[in-house]
Amino acid sequence: MLRNAKLAALSFLRSAGAFEAVANSKWRRDRLLILCYHGTSLEDEHQWRPALYLAPQVLEQRLQSLRATRCSVLPLGEALQRLQARDLPPRSVAVTFDDGAYDFYRQAYPLLKSYGIPVTVYQTTYYTDNPMPVFNLICSYMLWKRRGDQLGPIPELGLTQAMDLSTQLGRHKIVRILVERSERENLSGREKNEIARRLAGALGIDYAALTIKRILQLMNAQEVAEIAKEGVDVQLHTHRHRTPDDEALFRREIADNRGRIQSLVGHSARHFCYPSGVYRQEFVSWLEKEGVLSATTCDAGLVKRGDNPFLLSRFVDTTGRTQLEFESWLSGLGALIAFRRAATQSYTLPED
Ligand SMILES: [Zn+2]
Repeated sequence: MLRNAKLAALSFLRSAGAFEAVANSKWRRDRLLILCYHGTSLEDEHQWRPALYLAPQVLEQRLQSLRATRCSVLPLGEALQRLQARDLPPRSVAVTFDDGAYDFYRQAYPLLKSYGIPVTVYQTTYYTDNPMPVFNLICSYMLWKRRGDQLGPIPELGLTQAMDLSTQLGRHKIVRILVERSERENLSGREKNEIARRLAGALGIDYAALTIKRILQLMNAQEVAEIAKEGVDVQLHTHRHRTPDDEALFRREIADNRGRIQSLVGHSARHFCYPSGVYRQEFVSWLEKEGVLSATTCDAGLVKRGDNPFLLSRFVDTTGRTQLEFESWLSGLGALIAFRRAATQSYTLPED
């Protein structure tokens, strides 16, 4: 109800010229909108996780809006420099993709390229060297594929009771059992992949076919090198998609990630994005010590001069957003009327 009222209000404001007025205001000109994307579906992933995946057609509509509303899309580093120098062009936007999934290479990048839109990819690197699906995500996806079914126990996977796949909660419980077990037993990526393969067998899913399609896999080393050569800005997202509370371990995640990116793209990455949008105050000084220049969150907002460069807000675009809402954010009006909220927990991609 509240949402319908909000959409009706946005519709009214647009027809009354408010989008245009805010978009052309000094207030908007002094601010940068950083867009945040995760996946672009190879098949039906946006139906499984609408908060994480967009259908390619929806992504293309967004790019059309960027063009139609005459937004100035800048590379992230340049945008942040010009923000500090009070030199932003009208309606400035930077586009970022988290994780560096294969579907970025296959679906999103060709679209961005055809629209001439510069993009930053925050690349997590563990799976770049381990070509297999991201464990928790592929388990969740396969269980969703069998939603509605009842699954008998699979004792060898630690699943000792019959399982209800009809609800999200039921499926989530199974994923949690599998993830907790793999953590407890400190399983390697390869061992976890074997568990996923056995789960697929129990579900009657062709795991080899999923693997060949590269669903829920990250870009491999060659693909990362190729997009970087074409001008994609590849930046930091930790090696294993995690931010340990211990300083030495946290900084090792950054150093490992940076080293791997350097070897793939030939230069040192200096911009960072918090995995799953999770941050703590002490991370800021640890990032500074690592020579990082900026860090983005999943908290909703525009960025203005004087904001903490290690706590930059973004607009997380999802399947649930309408084109009207998206355009309200491009104009700046969306940020003015939004309820501020941390978007942290919806975007979890834990790895080993
Ligand atoms: Zn991520």
